[in-house]
Amino acid sequence: MMPLVAIVGRPNVGKSTLFNRLVGRRKAIVDDMPGVTRDRNYETVTRFETPFILIDTGGFEPVSEDRLLQQMREQSQLAMEEADVIIFLMDGRAGLTPSDVEVVEMLRRVKKPVFFVVNKVDGEKLENEAADFYTLGVGTLHTISAEHNRGVIDLMEEVVAAL
Ligand code: GDP
Ligand code: MG
Repeated sequence: MMPLVAIVGRPNVGKSTLFNRLVGRRKAIVDDMPGVTRDRNYETVTRFETPFILIDTGGFEPVSEDRLLQQMREQSQLAMEEADVIIFLMDGRAGLTPSDVEVVEMLRRVKKPVFFVVNKVDGEKLENEAADFYTLGVGTLHTISAEHNRGVIDLMEEVVAAL
């Protein structure tokens, strides 16, 4: 069985953009409409030292903060059960949100490697916008731009090393 890597995070943080970048084609639908990935997408990624199956988690844009949290809890729970490594993606443009904080607390307790990643850090100048996220107190915080392919390969090399 190939190892599984799951990408988890709020709608619109760029999960499908990262998935597509790694899969190398537009498999998952990326849209300006948040949370447009309806189902879970599974694809094999073979470009790194260890081949793995990448999971893009979907879900609709929930109507309320409560529903959002519930959806994220379910997503994370599933990922914690089935994945070998979890990538928890956050949005550097939107900043840190209460649901991010909540899910980070949940993921902190998992005995599997979890990578905490701030996406949409499109350039060096935006690095300090990620400052908020350091208050999470997670060991290493990775900053990437899935859209501009910034930091993605470095991140994935660490992910693969953890498989
Ligand atoms: P998902 O709901 O988490 O799957 O998010 P999507 O991948 O569908 O992306 C949501 C929006 O964020 C789209 O408009 C993307 O183009 C945009 N986006 C994704 N990654 C980046 C990034 O690195 N930088 C910027 N500026 N926008 C991004
Ligand atoms: Mg998506």
